[in-house]
Amino acid sequence: MKRIGVLTSGGDSPGMNAAIRAVVRKAIYHDLEVYGIYQGYAGLISGQIKKLELGSVGDIIHRGGTMLYTARCEEFKTMEGQKKGIEQLNKFGIDGLVVIGGDGSFQGARKLTEHGFPTIGVPGTIDNDISGTDFTIGFDTALNTVIDAIDKIRDTATSHERTYVVEVMGRDAGDLALWAGLADGAETILIPEVDYNMDDIVNRLKRGADRGKKHSIILVAEGVGSGVDIGREIQDKTNFETRVTVLGHIQRGGSPTAADRVLASRLGAKAVELLLNGQQGQMVGIESNKLVSHDIDEALSREHTVDEEMYQLSQELSI
Ligand code: ADP
Repeated sequence: MKRIGVLTSGGDSPGMNAAIRAVVRKAIYHDLEVYGIYQGYAGLISGQIKKLELGSVGDIIHRGGTMLYTARCEEFKTMEGQKKGIEQLNKFGIDGLVVIGGDGSFQGARKLTEHGFPTIGVPGTIDNDISGTDFTIGFDTALNTVIDAIDKIRDTATSHERTYVVEVMGRDAGDLALWAGLADGAETILIPEVDYNMDDIVNRLKRGADRGKKHSIILVAEGVGSGVDIGREIQDKTNFETRVTVLGHIQRGGSPTAADRVLASRLGAKAVELLLNGQQGQMVGIESNKLVSHDIDEALSREHTVDEEMYQLSQELSI
């Protein structure tokens, strides 16, 4: 292995830059050349590929987003698109690739490996929805953004004695809603992994009001349904003044937290180590604070599950 490539793909997440930096610096430390592939798989197909030096990744560790840009690329889901990508890699003499992204991006990485191109996945997504790692890069930052927003909403909720529904990201995974709900003492947390019962929510809200609660926060992961619809239903059934906030893309941005910068640095460097050891088709992860690697195939076939103990705790603490 003499020359490796790195790309970011799919939804961006804070800490991707720190991961790119780690890949580049670790590779150069081991006398490899590194090429940055811009705009994810789209840039791979069209050959948006440039050499990166030590200085190319200076002053980015603290920045959100990704300096390599990211994209969604339907063409790469086709065999033809994948072949074009491999042709570009060969043209630039690249013999190993690090893909930083979510599970969609990992599907692409798996395809490259199936075509014989050594590829390693680094989990970067705010959703924390990848099995084979306790945490993904960006989750901690997004969580802190959500908490900051809820703290502010709580101030106004208390002042106006209102019920607030806050919709957070998480199409398939409720981790962000669950962790934020626990960290912020939300009264109700709705996540895609657990069915909810509107009557229970209404009873809980009424019980709270009876014992003098000034406000309630209901956290909804987007995969459960529209926060606006849920808010309307709650207002209709309780007659409590209900407001809805959809946090949206602010959850994706911002300077990565220390935890995300450290995680990204460790995972990025580990990915290069795997390539140097001749491994391929693996994803890197962290489990019980130890760096691990798993077969991408296996990780993709296992469904991410929510921590049941934490969910139960959230129920117990919000009675
Ligand atoms: P994320 O990586 O954040 O989950 P997406 O699901 O949008 O984001 O996937 C990012 C990109 O990965 C897609 O636009 C596509 O280029 C590539 N990709 C997704 N699924 C596949 C697949 N089955 N085969 C090849 N490439 C894929």
